[in-house]
Order: sequence, then structure tokens, then C-alpha cells
Amino acid sequence: MLDFNTQIIFNAIKINRKRDLALQLHDDLYNRIKPYNITREQCVKIRENYGSLGVRGRIFHQALEQYLRNRIEPVQAMFSSWMQGAKAQVKGEDVPFSQVIIWCQDQSDNEKRHILRYEIRSLCRFLAPFSHATWQVLLHTLEEEFNYPNYIEYCQEKKAVDIKAWYKIARQFLDKTKDYYNELIEEILGRITSLTIEQACRFDAIYLLGLRYLDHLFPVCNISDSINSFFTNLGVDLNSFKNLIIHTTGKSGRQSYCIPIEIPNEVHVIIGPIKGWLDLESFFHEIGHALSFIFTSKDLSLEEREFFISGALSETFAFCFQKICMSEEFLVDIFGLSLKEAKFISKIHAFKWLALTRRYATKFLVEVDNFLDSKVQRGQEHYAKMMKKETGFDYDPETYLFDLMPDIYSLDYFQAYIASSCIWKYFIDALGTRWFCQQEALNLFFKWWQLGNSLGLEDFFKKEIEIPLTIEPFLEECKELINLKALLLSSWPF
Ligand SMILES: [Zn+2]
Repeated sequence: MLDFNTQIIFNAIKINRKRDLALQLHDDLYNRIKPYNITREQCVKIRENYGSLGVRGRIFHQALEQYLRNRIEPVQAMFSSWMQGAKAQVKGEDVPFSQVIIWCQDQSDNEKRHILRYEIRSLCRFLAPFSHATWQVLLHTLEEEFNYPNYIEYCQEKKAVDIKAWYKIARQFLDKTKDYYNELIEEILGRITSLTIEQACRFDAIYLLGLRYLDHLFPVCNISDSINSFFTNLGVDLNSFKNLIIHTTGKSGRQSYCIPIEIPNEVHVIIGPIKGWLDLESFFHEIGHALSFIFTSKDLSLEEREFFISGALSETFAFCFQKICMSEEFLVDIFGLSLKEAKFISKIHAFKWLALTRRYATKFLVEVDNFLDSKVQRGQEHYAKMMKKETGFDYDPETYLFDLMPDIYSLDYFQAYIASSCIWKYFIDALGTRWFCQQEALNLFFKWWQLGNSLGLEDFFKKEIEIPLTIEPFLEECKELINLKALLLSSWPF
């Protein structure tokens, strides 16, 4: 028999998940479903009954999350409606604010990307007060109504993670990978865009990491068949699960999502058509999330299945799958690429992985500094300075609030990048480089997925894998990247 409070909170969560799904599918249902309002009194009572720590504490944190969501919704609605109408003008072309990333990934013209930069800077200046107002309501509610001294204390308790310890790890990671990164970024950027790192801005980084300039090496036929048979050979026929609904909609390169409505009974994946490397990565990433949800045991409590407070473990599974589809072995065996092409693509992807992990590590450090210092909008200068220092690319201070995710999600991504390298090494040591084609590896995933969200990422490592969660395996992968420079010089495929 479910606890009364727990069921109420889950109903509220489910309604919000259905609204999120409808919003992404442009379904009018979004306007017709009314959110279920959890009250402040309910949150306070739940905290009195269950506390705010451990698995029972998740009940309070989920209730509070729903309360906060409803609290900021009116302010956010205003922000969203301004954002929806916002457009940048680039040489007579309208670029909607929400499409900037996709547009940059496709845009090979340096000049156009740089015009966009100045347009976006102005738009961000105009939109920042609306975004800032949303953050102010959130922070004010946490501080005044729930007595959290600052946002970091709140996130630390909610995620059950030692933020200070991870701050040190992220700093160490940036210091130890700096030389590998600097050695390569100038060379790769120059080859692809003819820009020097001093000339390049964040929008050039988006183009560089979008890998669209390698799409001429993407296999042209039967991609879906190859992917389906890869999964079917492992005993996972993606088309046979009634609880997994895949929506292929919109354009190639669109933002993709995995939205569970009820775990494990109803899980949705929204992706665009698979026409290039970026789409392939998105597909495998979201399938990694989805499989971990649909194979979660029904016998777990609601807290262990649905009330997950950190995304780190689910992101780890998603990253493992994303890494599979861009590995040399997968590209040769499943897509039939030549060894030379496969090596090239997988190495460029490994560099992209390093660049993204550095980006999220830096974002995490900036967010901790700024929230501890109670700077939301004022923290933008620190953001621009740190991003330039660690990534090499120019970031405009005005874009800070638009690069800020709730719940310090940058930490979840950083942890997941690190953790997926640890798992990758664990499998290679046990089963060799083609580990992902072997049933034993998948059986282990099945066992892990059964556990749902009963364990956080760190406990999962301690209890289930029994290997340390450290940056070492990632650093080992970086060492292999050194060959990339020679590879670039000898076999640039253009
Ligand atoms: Zn994800």
C-alpha cells in the first residue's frame, strides 16, 4: 500500500512529465493539462515526517521540486514567450533564438557565425532580466520559505553529493587535461575553420563539436537496419517493447529527449531523423537513458524508481551508449567503415568528449563560485573569464544565464563523463575492445538497470562495480589522443 503523500507527489510529477512530453511534441495537450499544485504546507509537513536526507528524504525533495516548479511557472511563462519570439538576423536570414545551436552546428560560414554572435549578445541583454527574475523567485523561495543558506547547500542536500569534494576533482581534471587539450584545439580548429583560437568564439566551438563537416563519411543506406540488428543481436529488439515509444519528428540535429512518464511502464524518446554523426550520437544517448528506465524493476519503491534526485547515473548509461556508436570497433563492424575512416572519426569524437567534459567541469566550478557568492546575474564576468581560460573560446558575459542549468546539472554531466570512462575501461579489461557486442556486458547492464535509481552514482560504483570512480581512466584515454595530431596531419579527409 502506497503512502498517501508519496502517491500525491508522484501524481504531480506524472502530470508535469506529461506536460513536458506534450510541449516537445507540440501537442495541444500541454495547454489542456493543468499542473497539480503541491503547497508549501504539504512540503513542510513532508519534511517533518520524513526528513530531507536519504531515500526517504527524496519524498521531500520531489515535493519541493514540484512546488518550486509551480512557483516559478508564471515568471517563466513570460520569459518563454519573449524567448519564443526572439530572432537573430544573419544576412537576411532569421535565426530563432531556440534554434541557435542547431543553426551553428550546420553553419560552415565563419562570418555568419560571427554576425550571429553579436546578434545573440543583444538578444541576451534584452532577455536576461526575464531569466534573472525566474532565478530570483527560485532562490528567494528556497532561502525565505525553506531556510537554505544558499543554492549550493540546497543542491548538495538534494543530490546527496559532496559538492566541495567534486569541486576539487573538477579543478584537478581541468589541470591534468589542459596540455592535451591545448595541444590539439589549435590544430583541429585551424584545419576545420581556418580560425586561430584567439579569433574563435563559443559559436565556433558549437560548429566544431557538431561534427557536421564529417557527415560526408556517414553511411548513406540502411542505417536504421544496421542499428536495429546491432540491438537485436544483443537481445534488445527496440521495436518490440510496448513500454518504449520512439517519436521520430522534426529536423535532423534537433534537441532530443528521453521522457519517462512512468518507470518502467511508459518511456518516450523524441529524436530527429538519423542523417549524420550528431543524430546517431543523440539516438544512442537517449536509448541509453530509455533502456535504463524500461528495465527498472517494478518491485522497487516509488522513491527508488521515480524520485531520482541526481541525473548522474542515468547520464552515465546514456554516455556509455553514446560512446559505443562512435567507437572505432562499432564503426567498422556495424557500419562497415574502413579502419582509417573509423579511426579518424572515433579520435575526433574522443577529442570532442574531452572538450565537452572540460566545458562542464568549468561550468560547474563557475556555478559553485557564483552561487556561494550569491551572484546570479553579477556572476557573468566570472563565467566569461573562466570559460575563455579553460576552453580557449570567447564567451560573452551576457550569455551566462542562458547557459545555466537548474540543480547544478553541469555536475551530473561532469560525473557521468568521468564515470562512463571508468565503466568503459572496466569492460575493456574484462572483455576486450569489442565488449559491447558480447552478451556478458549486456547482462551486466540488465542487472544494473534493474536497480533503477535505488543507488546514487557513487554508491552504485562502491556496491555494484567495486572499482573507484576516478578521473584516471579518462586521463588514460587522453594519452591516446596524442596520436590524433599525427593522424590529422597525415589523413585529413577533405
Ligand atoms: Zn542525457
